[in-house]
Amino acid sequence: MDLLCLDFMNSDVRDALGSGLRTDRLRDAEWVARFLARWKLGEHNPPARASLTMLIELRAAMWSIVSAMVEGNELSDDDLATIDGALGGPSLFRLLVRDGGSFRVELEPTKRDWVWVASEIVASLADVLAAHETHRLKLCGNPDCRWVFYDESKNRTRRWCADSCGNLIKVRRFRKARR
Ligand SMILES: [Zn+2]
Repeated sequence: MDLLCLDFMNSDVRDALGSGLRTDRLRDAEWVARFLARWKLGEHNPPARASLTMLIELRAAMWSIVSAMVEGNELSDDDLATIDGALGGPSLFRLLVRDGGSFRVELEPTKRDWVWVASEIVASLADVLAAHETHRLKLCGNPDCRWVFYDESKNRTRRWCADSCGNLIKVRRFRKARR
């Protein structure tokens, strides 16, 4: 399943082949533009230094929260404070909007800036937590990849972010066994 929070967390890309190279997509203006469009987060200039630092720190915090949960740890109060801090970043107002013949209330941000984008990203993770589906969050079994993915399989048996990682590990095991 595609989730905003996963797309964001996986923007720090390790080379799955194990060269140790890392590519930070948050520094890639084209990737950032596609990411924003894909998740309907508006158009923004690439994050300036302060926003970029905020996003990189948020991503690291989310990654450590998810990897701790994958290992079976409970969410700590500090983790909760991190999530709440990001959720509470933007100031919001309520708006009564027409919805066919009736009305609905919408929460609108006063500014659609990077702080708001960050809160939307964290809200996507908060939704997974609130739905008690954290056991479906997993890290790819390829130690050189470690992408976060959401296991939708019935028995929760998925181990790889993609077939390519699974095949890579199988080939490695096969070669090792033959040696
Ligand atoms: Zn992988």
